[in-house]
Amino acid sequence: MVNNINRLARYLLDGLLPQYCALCGMFSHSDLPLCQHCREELPINQAACPCCALPLPAHIAAPGCGRCLRHPPAYSAAVVPLIYGEYLAYLIQRWKFQRQSGFTRLLATLWLEHAQVTPPDLLVPIPLHWRRQLTRGYNQAELLARAITAQSSSLQRTRIDTHLLYRHRATAAQSAMDAQARTRNLRGAFTVRRRCDSLRIALIDDVMTTGATAEAAATALLDAGARQVDIWCLARTPL
Ligand SMILES: [Zn+2]
Ligand SMILES: [Zn+2]
Repeated sequence: MVNNINRLARYLLDGLLPQYCALCGMFSHSDLPLCQHCREELPINQAACPCCALPLPAHIAAPGCGRCLRHPPAYSAAVVPLIYGEYLAYLIQRWKFQRQSGFTRLLATLWLEHAQVTPPDLLVPIPLHWRRQLTRGYNQAELLARAITAQSSSLQRTRIDTHLLYRHRATAAQSAMDAQARTRNLRGAFTVRRRCDSLRIALIDDVMTTGATAEAAATALLDAGARQVDIWCLARTPL
């Protein structure tokens, strides 16, 4: 109970108190925990594969990366406006472990500043396995989805569905796996709880590493009738 009150008080105060920049420690001069100078240091994913958003040299980005050309993924496009560099990794870690609302607003603001999307029929946060969600207490992809729709006039009416997709088995920790091992690890990890015929769905997550999670979730939704699945993520890991 006391914990809940503390959390609520902190949530309210986060939006009112002057914020310090989480990277340089100076006043941020806004209600977000990042100053303008540090914000400009974040690498933008400008030249990228139009399909999987892999950062590429500008002169070869247009046709797409070799992997998408050889094996087009199940999803139609990935909208991932930032590159997962050192600064952003630090901000995302603080967001996940401290869960301050200022960080959620900051990351949603950064995404909205650089992403160009049309509203989908449904926005689906990539689910965690229930055991991981129980330990963490929340799903960061859902926090991001809620902040993005709350902060954008064009996405305000977009419905968020946290029930449609279910991660029905705990997959082994993936950080040390290569792309092929991740794909094997995730095969059949998601099920869809009802038909989603003809729907245009956007899947949302924080970081896209190899795309294996996106691929597994998109495949499950397309098998359940979805017309199109796009991926929305904050940041893409470079090769
Ligand atoms: Zn700063
Ligand atoms: Zn690609």
